[in-house]
Parts: sequence; structure tokens; C-alpha cells
Amino acid sequence: MPSALDFSSLKYLFLDRDGVLNRRIPDDYVRNPDQWEWLPGALEALSLFAGYFEIIVIVSNQQGVGKGLFSETDLHTLTRFFLEDIRENGGRIDKVFYCTHLKKEDCACRKPGTGMATLAKEAFPQIDFSASLMTGDSLSDMQFGKNAGMKTVFITTERQPEPEEQPWIDACYRSLKELAEAMSASDASHNP
Ligand SMILES: [Mg+2]
Ligand SMILES: [Zn+2]
Repeated sequence: MPSALDFSSLKYLFLDRDGVLNRRIPDDYVRNPDQWEWLPGALEALSLFAGYFEIIVIVSNQQGVGKGLFSETDLHTLTRFFLEDIRENGGRIDKVFYCTHLKKEDCACRKPGTGMATLAKEAFPQIDFSASLMTGDSLSDMQFGKNAGMKTVFITTERQPEPEEQPWIDACYRSLKELAEAMSASDASHNP
């Protein structure tokens, strides 16, 4: 798996949520703050990213809303909860985008469709996808990133082993923390 990314060219960060920031619940949805469990080092990584990236957004498929398993209100309550945690730990998320549609609705915003990238660019016109990094733990995240013209990092945290080498994955790390450490190391080597 290739792992050489030119971090210095990346200014905008797109983050998947479940399995990247917090622990996934296999075959279910994280519906409320009681079910939210930060992955080790994720908050520290976000704090480092805040100084590194000009814009940081979350792009997350939450089909559970479309299925009626939880409401938009539940989703916003949960979002406020984790954003507060991020702020208190020195991190920053500039905006959160969710696709709450059912897969069968065939909407434009469900990853790997690029609708949420388009919405992010509408909110922040300075975003340049060629200077953007998408991180996620699903191949659909990687396809989303590549479909939009971004660089991609596959986070393997909960989906070991690494996938076969794929054209839409630029690098693999075990966690956001490992990615943040690699960026710090590369930054130090550029600016000793
Ligand atoms: Mg995920
Ligand atoms: Zn959608």
C-alpha cells in the first residue's frame, strides 16, 4: 500500500465520522451521546489538525434517519455533544454534513456520491479538492474522495487487515492519531 502523501500540499480536510472519530457499532447506528465512544487519540489528532488545515468538515452517511431509527433532532443532539468535546480539547470542525437518505433513494449526497463535497464547496468556496484530503474507514469514503478529485487516507482502525491495494486509496493509517503523527513528522522534516 502506498503511504507517501505530500502533506504540505493539503489544506482542507474531509472526515468520515463513525469508525474514524468514534467507534462504529457494527450493523447498527450511533444514535445518542451514550453510544458515542471516541477512538483512542482521535481528539488529540483533531487538535493537531486544527492548526494544520484551513477548513475541516465531517461528511457522514446516516441512513438510520431515513429508516426512522432515529430523528434529525437526535442526530443534531449527538452532533452538538461531540462538537463540544472537540472544542474543549482544542480541535475545530467548521461544518458537519450528513446524508440522511436511504440508499435506495439514490440521492446525490450519499457517499460515494459527491453531493456533500459540493455542499462543502458552496459553504466554503475557497476549498480546492486537489488540495483536500478525505479520511474514512470504508471504500465508499475513498471513492467519494477520488470522485471529487481529493487525496484519500484509509483508516484501518476497525477493519483489519488493510484492503487490497486499491486505485482510490493513497495511503493507509491505523488511526487518525497515526495520520496526525505522520503529518507532524513530515512537517518537522520540512521545517527543521
Ligand atoms: Mg465510517
Ligand atoms: Zn443523501
